[in-house]
Amino acid sequence: MLEDKNQERTSLAELGEFGLINHLTKHFKIHHSSTVKGIGDDCAVLKNTEEEIVVTTDLLIEGVHFDLSYMPLKHLGYKAVMVNLSDVYAMNAEAQQITVSIAVSNRFPLEAIEELYAGIQLACNTYKIDLIGGDTTSSTKGMLLSVTAIGSAKKEDIVYRNGAKPTDLIVVSGDLGGAYLGLQVLEREKQVFNVNPQNQPDLDAYTYIIERQLKPEARKDIPALLKELGVKPTSMIDISDGLSSELFHICTQSKVGCKVYEEKFPLDPQVISTCEEFNLDSTMVALSGGEDYELLFTVSINDFDKIKGNPNLTVIGHVTEEAAGLHLVTRANQELELKAQGWNSFSDQE
Ligand SMILES: [Mg+2]
Repeated sequence: MLEDKNQERTSLAELGEFGLINHLTKHFKIHHSSTVKGIGDDCAVLKNTEEEIVVTTDLLIEGVHFDLSYMPLKHLGYKAVMVNLSDVYAMNAEAQQITVSIAVSNRFPLEAIEELYAGIQLACNTYKIDLIGGDTTSSTKGMLLSVTAIGSAKKEDIVYRNGAKPTDLIVVSGDLGGAYLGLQVLEREKQVFNVNPQNQPDLDAYTYIIERQLKPEARKDIPALLKELGVKPTSMIDISDGLSSELFHICTQSKVGCKVYEEKFPLDPQVISTCEEFNLDSTMVALSGGEDYELLFTVSINDFDKIKGNPNLTVIGHVTEEAAGLHLVTRANQELELKAQGWNSFSDQE
């Protein structure tokens, strides 16, 4: 449905592996002095700093993690970088380098891979990230994409998942549920397109949620904002699988419980209207949606004055003793036990 209008097709075999890497990466800039040598030798060389190094990696497989019938390759490249940077920011660290490895079948011409790398390059320039290496190889079927991100932070600044304490406040950045609903809209349009390829989708009412799905932004600004406010979270995680599942990670690792309030969940108006249209409960979408790449963290209640009223941050609840469990307080003041994930498992309670 989002058809590639570019009819030029250059076979990848024409360039060879080294020609291909050189061709794809020649316009990437180096932003950090910690990158001594990027692409072009047997290894990249990074300068050891006084800071601690954080490393994260992610593997994306066509048909499992992305669908190229509605995911343009440029967006895929951008998003693959974002999901990794998001993990670095969730450690309260600064991201500096990435490696990118891809395997593609001969279904993809050079022009397609150029599009993918255009997205990776846009992400690198926007977030000041150095592409320092990777690998390209052939696959028998489809596309496989792996990104590794490297960052650093002072030892005392790193925030783990295990530091939440009872009475801490639970905070999220941005808003929730948009990416999941964007995916629902794209899936629906794909079905319509399959039946009638002449149908031009009108997606104007869904621009924000589709962008949340196709072009998420990692919250680089939040660690910087917290530093500025003089707040160090007691625990932090990024929201990749859904609020509920991330709350479980924090509570399990911190050995605490939590109480979150339905009425506090930050929801964009497009999330609310699309939930009505799809007959979905917006609270459930916020809890189980995933892929929002916002940050979820806990702060001491003594820091409340520093964060209250900040348009980027919403307090959605507080940490409790472990024995109290994990609960959602509904608008009707009912307490429901949270489940780790899943629309179905949660709806069993209704
Ligand atoms: Mg994560």
